[in-house]
Formats: sequence, C-alpha cells, structure tokens
Amino acid sequence: MQIAALRQRLRELGAKPAHEARVLRAWLAGQPLTAGPRQAEDVLPLAVRDALPALAAELDALARVRSQHPGADGSARLLVELADRQMVESVLLLKDGLCVSTQVGCAVGCRFCMTGRDGLLRQLGSAEIVAQVVLARRQRPVKKVVFMGMGEPAHNLDNVFAAIDLLGREGGIGHKNLVLSTVGDRRVFDKLESLAAGDVRPALALSLHTTDPELRAQLLPRAPQIGIDELVERAEAWARASGYPIQYQWTLLAGVNDNAAEIDGIVRLLKGKYAVMNLIPYNENEGLGYRRPDRERAGEMLRTLHRRGILTKLRTSAGQDVDGGCGQLRARATVTPAE
Ligand code: SF4
Repeated sequence: MQIAALRQRLRELGAKPAHEARVLRAWLAGQPLTAGPRQAEDVLPLAVRDALPALAAELDALARVRSQHPGADGSARLLVELADRQMVESVLLLKDGLCVSTQVGCAVGCRFCMTGRDGLLRQLGSAEIVAQVVLARRQRPVKKVVFMGMGEPAHNLDNVFAAIDLLGREGGIGHKNLVLSTVGDRRVFDKLESLAAGDVRPALALSLHTTDPELRAQLLPRAPQIGIDELVERAEAWARASGYPIQYQWTLLAGVNDNAAEIDGIVRLLKGKYAVMNLIPYNENEGLGYRRPDRERAGEMLRTLHRRGILTKLRTSAGQDVDGGCGQLRARATVTPAE
C-alpha cells in the first residue's frame, strides 16, 4: 500500500483533511485506529468509522516483527517480515532513533555489505517504510528516523520522500531528525533542491567511504558515476539551504581507506564545509574479506582529522554484537528455516 492510496481511500469515504490527519496520526503513533468519542469536534464520518477495523487490519498486515535482537549497547535489531514474507531490518537506536530499510536487497552492491550481495529484490512501498516506524513506536518513542537500513533510498526515491513527507507532517518528527542517506545520486540532489522552499526538508547523510575515485568505483561498483567533488559541492549546497550539516559516512576498512592519503583527501574536500565526518569501524562479515581497523588506528585517524580542522566523530554500528551489519540478520534468516 502507498500512502497516497491510503489518503485517497479515506477521502473517498468522506474524510476531510482533519479526519485524514487524525487517522494517520493515530497510525503513526502506533495507537489503535478507533473512531474516538462521538462528541469530538473532528468526529469521523460514519463511513470512515465503519471502515477503520478493516483498515487497521490491513495496515497491521504490512509488516510484523519476526524477531528482535537486543544489543549490549542498548540498541536492538528488528527483523521485520513484510506481507509477502520478504524481510528487512530496522534498528532501534539510542536516544529514540530508528534506522529503517527502504528496499529488500540493494542494487549498489557495495563490496563490504551483506545486503548488496544479493542485488535488489524489490522496492518497499511508502506505507511499508512508515510501518517500520509504527512497529518501533509500539515498543518505545521514536523521535528521529534515519533512512540508512537496507537499500539505497535514491533507487526508491518517490516512496522514500512520500514517507519523509508523512513523518514530517503528521508523525511528530522534526525535519533535522529525518535523515536521508545516499551513496550520492543526482536525482536525490534534484529532489532536495525542489524541496528547498517546502514544508518538509530532511537532513542528508552521504556515504563517501573514500576520496579516491578508482577505489570508490571498486567498493561501490554500481553507485552512480558522479565525481566526488561534485557530490560534495551539491551536498554542501543542501546543507546551506536546509540549515543542517551533511553527515558524511565513512565505513572504516583496515588497510583500505584508513591511510594518510585518505586523510589528506578528506581535508581537501571537507575543510570549511558545513559537515560532520562519521568514521564507522567496519563490522566484519564472514566471507566478504574486509577487516575492522584496530581501535588505535581509528582513534588516530579521528585525532588527526580533528587537528586538521575536520569535525569528526567515531561512531559504532549499533548492535554490533547481534549479527551486527546491515543485512546480516536477514541473510541468516533466509538460510535458517522459520521457527
Ligand atoms: Fe546498498 Fe547501503 Fe549495502 Fe551499499 S551499504 S549495498 S548502498 S545497503
């Protein structure tokens, strides 16, 4: 189900904008869809009230938590099963954050990622993306949503932006707490520019991983062919337009992108930019052949970048102790018979 179709159905049942908003807000809050007191000012039309139980069942059927894997760091990975039994992962993050998936599988094929291994299986509908927030909110508050789970949001742009729009308008999430993540795609920048004067303007995270174009083409083999300088330039324009710094993502791979040449490259690209560099030590996946740098190396890179004027943070990938990396739970579930 798409959000636009859901809105259309409510309208056809006679819902006015206030009624529509009320139903959507109840869904987004993870509350039961009930008609509410008859005396309420925005009392729902009879046809809408009658349709609510069936609608609630349909929305509930979009996604369910198949299994939950708490991490020692307070995060938790959710393996989410969709109506057609395909599976994606969501991650409950610290400080009321949630990481959601936007596709089943992914076509970018990053060499270090389990999700990229199988290619793209299908797109998530806009309502399926939002349903992950609803499932999470049934467990704990969600005040920030990052679109950084399985999939490349740029490859499912309309549905991702429909989800962002709904969460920003009716979901009680501030714009800077809606973080769209991409490997970099002109279509994302074009879309963001079209939103510059709009009501809902998300923050942007850009997966850089290297400043060397040849290495980038190897690591992210099917990412769009777009120069790294152009990526940073367009991202910077969005940071200035939105008022939120760009979160650069750098999966730290031992012996691959943790060297002095990369530090020079980062300084050249990001010095003076409205940006935060997030170094994320790789969470090793058996069989993919990449290693996590030791703590000292990661710390040294952090300190060097700071010293050279780049605002840098050393992040952990949430829930590393529970089959941690993006796609690992799903990969395991698809080879393990269902309980
Ligand atoms: Fe796709 Fe992200 Fe995995 Fe790359 S890291 S293959 S973009 S899911």
